[in-house]
Amino acid sequence: MPLFRRRPPEFAMPTGTLPCAESHCANQTAVACAYRDRRGRNCAIAFCPQHWTLVGGVVYCRRHAGTIAALGSAAATNGSLPELGNRGPSLVNWVAGAIDDGVVGLLERVARVGETVKTETAVTVIFDAKRRRRWERSWKLIENTGINLKVAVEVAADADDALIDARVGSCVVARGVPPWIARRRAGVDVSAQVDEEQRRLFSQFFLDNIATEVAQQRAEDFADRRA
Ligand SMILES: [Zn+2]
Ligand SMILES: [Zn+2]
Repeated sequence: MPLFRRRPPEFAMPTGTLPCAESHCANQTAVACAYRDRRGRNCAIAFCPQHWTLVGGVVYCRRHAGTIAALGSAAATNGSLPELGNRGPSLVNWVAGAIDDGVVGLLERVARVGETVKTETAVTVIFDAKRRRRWERSWKLIENTGINLKVAVEVAADADDALIDARVGSCVVARGVPPWIARRRAGVDVSAQVDEEQRRLFSQFFLDNIATEVAQQRAEDFADRRA
């Protein structure tokens, strides 16, 4: 038995000495955002404890906390994080989260005996046949023989980072810029109530188009099986 036990390490909230970048905040306790993109560039915008966001105990600015939350903490350490200004993964995550219940319900309704719904909760990077990167979150109808149907929300890595696509199989069925981004680009301000309604309409538009294409592909699939 050791005579002296070492004191266990105690959790200490990070605290900094930098001025906070939030407008109207006078705190001098800010810590720089830990985000480092795939090109090795640091975000370095500093926020105080009231205005930063912690993900896995690490300080991020709000934008990059959204990216880390979308990609999962593992992405932060493997040097594959998107460019500093890229919102693609967090926007994909928002759209996917907004339609998640709807897509799962839809796939459960069309599932045949032996098929189950598999939901991907993290945004992942995908390379297409031409080695172009895109970020996607997906839902699949799977059977022991493989994937029978795939629904994805995605954004291209080298194009407009807010132009979100919904895909059923290989077919793009809906495309759009989330309403608050579209408004910011147009310099339009709206009430919280209008904002909420626009977000709802945007999600519904994606969901409706996905539902139409899923029904179509299932009908074709059914006809093929009978032929
Ligand atoms: Zn602050
Ligand atoms: Zn940041």
